[in-house]
Amino acid sequence: MSEKPLISVEAAEKIIAAFPVTVLSETMPLLAAQNRILASDIHSPLAIPEFDKSAMDGYAYISEDQSPAFEIIETIAAGTPPRLAVSPGYCAKIMTGAMLPSGANRVVKRECTSEENGFMKINCEDRNRNIRYKGEDLQAGQAVLEKGGMLQAAQIALLASLGFAEVPTARPPRVGIITTGSELVEPGKPLGPGQIYNSNYYSLAAQLCALGAGPLAMGRVADNAQATVEAIDSCLDNCQVLILSGGVSAGDFDYVPAAMKKAGLILHFEKIAVQPGMPTVFGSRGEKIVFGLPGNPVSTFVIFEIFIKPLIRRLLGHNEQPLVIPALLTAAYSRSNGARTSFVPVRYFQGRATVLAYHGSAHLHSLSQANALMQVAVGQLNIPAGSTVDVRYL
Ligand code: AMP
Ligand code: MG
Repeated sequence: MSEKPLISVEAAEKIIAAFPVTVLSETMPLLAAQNRILASDIHSPLAIPEFDKSAMDGYAYISEDQSPAFEIIETIAAGTPPRLAVSPGYCAKIMTGAMLPSGANRVVKRECTSEENGFMKINCEDRNRNIRYKGEDLQAGQAVLEKGGMLQAAQIALLASLGFAEVPTARPPRVGIITTGSELVEPGKPLGPGQIYNSNYYSLAAQLCALGAGPLAMGRVADNAQATVEAIDSCLDNCQVLILSGGVSAGDFDYVPAAMKKAGLILHFEKIAVQPGMPTVFGSRGEKIVFGLPGNPVSTFVIFEIFIKPLIRRLLGHNEQPLVIPALLTAAYSRSNGARTSFVPVRYFQGRATVLAYHGSAHLHSLSQANALMQVAVGQLNIPAGSTVDVRYL
């Protein structure tokens, strides 16, 4: 068997980043757009506030007016425009959010006043004008949200406040997941001898969902060459990106890379100098993209985080980069072999990173305690306590 060329993490990232993708867009009702990515820049069609309004329950009057008492000309509720103008010696009782009557240029809050026989008296100083002026927050036509940002509660609230009932969003890519392995059993079923639970489907599906990309469960394939070719071939018709887990290493029953070729894919790389996840395969057929990931659960997870996530983000039109933060290492870290870039599960808290006990690429429990991955560069064997390291937030 010929040795597959080993490429660096950076080279693999570049190859994936250079792969052209098309971002599709679709208009969604506002709430259905939650966690989606905005597909166009949004400009405000309105001024906000829409009109000069009271910021308090109180009385609208003329700031310069020194009258000992003010006759109340009307009561203005939010939603009902004032009928009368305020002139010296007069005021209008006004509620929070109600339109300021013409003539008035100040509101005294209710707590600073007393009211008797249709007159209002100011009893204590209210330093605030208590007016929210038209256009103070936003001018009509002003840019408010940028294409590529995620729509979460605050953005949805803003869009609703501007009167948008629907919003242009990036259509989530169709990402298929196939797990390979004759030993796999779905959670909820009893395990037979030699069997294990399929966790990779759940891990990949959850990672995709967290990005706002809907995973498509494309089933499990036993370790069988022909079945793997057929699964790849038929699933590719129904998705843009296909992720396979397992079957990419050097074992007798690892059929995925050969099956990818047989299914008409060009393989762009088959081995990355990364730990975990070295035998990762990246291939394409036309616009379709296929990843073959090693089956060890931490490898699957980490390779998705480092290499697949940026691609899915691009397919989603997402403009955010992964969050890589400097952290102080709480205890010395060392490894015996520096040939690959390592990603090590760590716990990050308030600027400090602690390496977790980690037994290798099957140790999901360690990963479950982590909230970040520390990147250890090629050639780096020992990192003293107190060093600044790069951690990638999960
Ligand atoms: P493979 O890459 O197929 O050689 O698998 C490497 C290791 O990962 C083996 O111990 C497999 O049993 C395990 N493995 C493969 N697929 C899965 C999966 N979907 N869920 C959990 N473990 C898996
Ligand atoms: Mg396998």
